[in-house]
Amino acid sequence: MFQKIEFNPHQGASIGTLWLNSPARVPAPALPVGWQGRIGDWANRVELVPDLGSNIGSRVWWRGLFTCVSLCGTTLMLSPGMPAIPGSVPTALGANHLDHFRSQMISASALGGDSGLRMGPTDAVAPLAETPERPQIELNAALGTGDSFAHTLARSGVSDKDASAVLALVAQAVDPESIAAGTRVQMILGRRPNRNVARPLERLSVRARLELALEIHRQDGALTLRRIPIAVDNTPLRIRGRVGGSLYRAARAAGAAPSTIQAYLKVLASQVSVGSLRAEDRFDIIVAHRRAETGEAEVGQLLFAGLERARGKDINMLKWTQDGRQQWFEASGVGERRGVLAAPVSGRMSSNYGQRFHPILGYKRMHAGVDFSAAHGSPIYAVTDGRVNYAGWHGGHGKYVRLQHAGGIGSGYAHMSRIAVKSGQSVRRGQVIGYVGSTGLSTGPHLHYELYRNGATVNPGSIKFTQVAQLSGSALAAFKAKIAELKRLPAGPVAERTAQATPAPTDNPAGGGVSRTR
Ligand SMILES: [Zn+2]
Repeated sequence: MFQKIEFNPHQGASIGTLWLNSPARVPAPALPVGWQGRIGDWANRVELVPDLGSNIGSRVWWRGLFTCVSLCGTTLMLSPGMPAIPGSVPTALGANHLDHFRSQMISASALGGDSGLRMGPTDAVAPLAETPERPQIELNAALGTGDSFAHTLARSGVSDKDASAVLALVAQAVDPESIAAGTRVQMILGRRPNRNVARPLERLSVRARLELALEIHRQDGALTLRRIPIAVDNTPLRIRGRVGGSLYRAARAAGAAPSTIQAYLKVLASQVSVGSLRAEDRFDIIVAHRRAETGEAEVGQLLFAGLERARGKDINMLKWTQDGRQQWFEASGVGERRGVLAAPVSGRMSSNYGQRFHPILGYKRMHAGVDFSAAHGSPIYAVTDGRVNYAGWHGGHGKYVRLQHAGGIGSGYAHMSRIAVKSGQSVRRGQVIGYVGSTGLSTGPHLHYELYRNGATVNPGSIKFTQVAQLSGSALAAFKAKIAELKRLPAGPVAERTAQATPAPTDNPAGGGVSRTR
């Protein structure tokens, strides 16, 4: 086996010499020259890496072990070491960092999140014993439904003294109770001497009515009122258009308010079946309209309802007041057909008109009316317009009311517990005239209702009577003149017409009337 390859630089011509391991000892070569040569020679002679499995404990073995330990030690010394492997570990934030981040976190306010418009207080914030007050507070309060002006002031923090002064000033211009719900009240409350008193009112402005704004200032310690009249155009608004596919949509598109269309359809339905309208028909609606110079507008009641029909008679209905009652009249002066209430009381009919056995008298006799069974105290309504002919005790009828209607018709209401009208008084259809009871010849609370024609009782179920108002004479002339006047109005919103705003009447036409109170 080859043991060693030795290159001898002194043998020239670069010839390697091979020795075979043979029993014949090769004579030792000449001693090498130099320290490198000597170390090489020593390394040849000394076995530095023996087999550590044999001759354990011998001198050679210990030397081998030393070599092994030295080499391992050198390797460890020269190794670059173990690099750290990155991993996810929660960062521990210091108190300062936590405060810094907290204002930027997004979390629920309920959980103490500071996200939002304001930055949350950090630990650096020290609570103040007392915060400084704003010099002024500007408030914008609105009157609620069922609310009062005085209550709105009190709710806004105006002192009782200021509130009563304001009320007294406002009452000089308008009734404070008449200010509509939803009206906004702008207030400025000023600086106060200490926290235990209410802030003084510095300024208050309110649009009391469409045509009147009120301003209250504090001047030299006293509140003064200034009225600002606002010009209002009262010209009614006329809205016209083609019915098309839907009258409602067409009228809405033309600028009518939903409540106006509702009223219009109700009037129209009294004359014509709304289902019979044709697309070519043209509607003509005139409503009361108030438009202030400041831009606000108020839509009032429907004044005129017209329909120009492609086929059939045109409809022209005008709201007109006759005998103190507003109702709709047709262009010829014929008013609404007013029917009679089906029953004068809310209850079941318990006994009909005709011969019957009387429960108290104990024999058969004529029952001259109709009985309605109803709870004690239920209101009794007049079946139609009329005049009270009799109101009081009437024998077996107990407490009794007799009404006289047009056309020789009368109606009677018996056994009332209480009468709510007086003799000679005129009543309207649906007006409460008394309450159900059991007075007179009666076994329990019920209404005995009678109908008379020319003084004799008739079966209330047998006749139907209606009332139609008819205008005549000067009333008819005035009515026709009003229709003509309204129909001269151009259609369209007021803004498109020549603005002819008339200043609203106020008790101080010069404007800026100042009244003062302390
Ligand atoms: Zn009866």
